Amino acid sequence: QVDIALYQAKAAGRNTLRFFDPELQAAVQARAAMEATLRQGIRDNQLLLYYQPQVDGAGQSVGAEALVRWHHPDRGMVSPHEFIPLAEETGLILPLGEWVLETACSQIVAWSHQPGMAHLSLAVNVSARQFRQTDFVEKVQGVLKRTGANPQRLKLELTESMLVDNVEDIIEKMSALKRAGVSFSLDDFGTGYSSLSYLKRLPLDQLKIDQSFVRDVLTDPNDAAIARTIVALAQSLGLSVMAEGVETEAQRAFLSSHGCHHYQGYYFSRPLPVESFELFAHRSVEETIH
Ligand code: C2E
Ligand code: MG
Ligand code: MG
Ligand code: MG
Repeated sequence: QVDIALYQAKAAGRNTLRFFDPELQAAVQARAAMEATLRQGIRDNQLLLYYQPQVDGAGQSVGAEALVRWHHPDRGMVSPHEFIPLAEETGLILPLGEWVLETACSQIVAWSHQPGMAHLSLAVNVSARQFRQTDFVEKVQGVLKRTGANPQRLKLELTESMLVDNVEDIIEKMSALKRAGVSFSLDDFGTGYSSLSYLKRLPLDQLKIDQSFVRDVLTDPNDAAIARTIVALAQSLGLSVMAEGVETEAQRAFLSSHGCHHYQGYYFSRPLPVESFELFAHRSVEETIH
């Protein structure tokens, strides 16, 4: 087959080698179509945020993670796994990310006026491409200013992979936002690779234990060891630690017995539309008091 393709390319009088792969072509077309509908979806307000509760050792809500959803007119709710990578590659992540940040900050303002909600922090995922923008700091500060959100309530989630190159630049961006009151959490921790000396230099506030370690924490001794190590590492670096993907009481109890007292996962709640999240947050506070 390769020979045939080579022959055809030569016969066509070109230097380039061309393969015709119908499957690849279909995939390319599907992506182009998806990109166009996502672009339009952003324009037509089809994006919305869900809020997944984050709770402390007493089961009280301490905050939420904002998770974007795409309400596609024909396909229904589309998972970010399906469109975030595409948005990253096409650059659509920039308007998308800014919309997420703006919406999250407006939500912080709304909660600041609601009894029992003003203390909640809101975590927002930042993509690599978004963070790499030279004016990322100014963009975030601009959104904070426009919305009037308290920066102390905003937590930005970064991942290890986006912290590898240009360390000085990264530290500078993070420090500038920290001075403004924003905090930082390292998402999916343990799945990338960061050296410990490097980790020490970053002005982080929190490590999030990736859910892949939490899933089998009770049955896989390696995962248990990793989870315990992350907790110990966070403690020795003076950072808080949050476990994500907690689905059972047994997982929570294990993590708790090893010093992790902040959790996010289906055991407590799935990501919720804002009204349901607000009910959850009120209920968890009342249950703790009574
Ligand atoms: P992530 O930031 O690590 O978010 C956690 C994901 O785990 C969420 O998936 C959440 O629904 C899911 N999850 C939470 N608890 C559990 C659990 O107990 N069990 C299981 N099996 N899953 C759980 P989701 O909402 O589908 O988001 C997937 C990823 O998409 C996120 O992973 C994040 O990387 C990305 N993402 C979501 N929203 C945004 C956004 O606004 N901007 C950017 N750049 N990325 C986003
Ligand atoms: Mg996250
Ligand atoms: Mg995560
Ligand atoms: Mg993830």
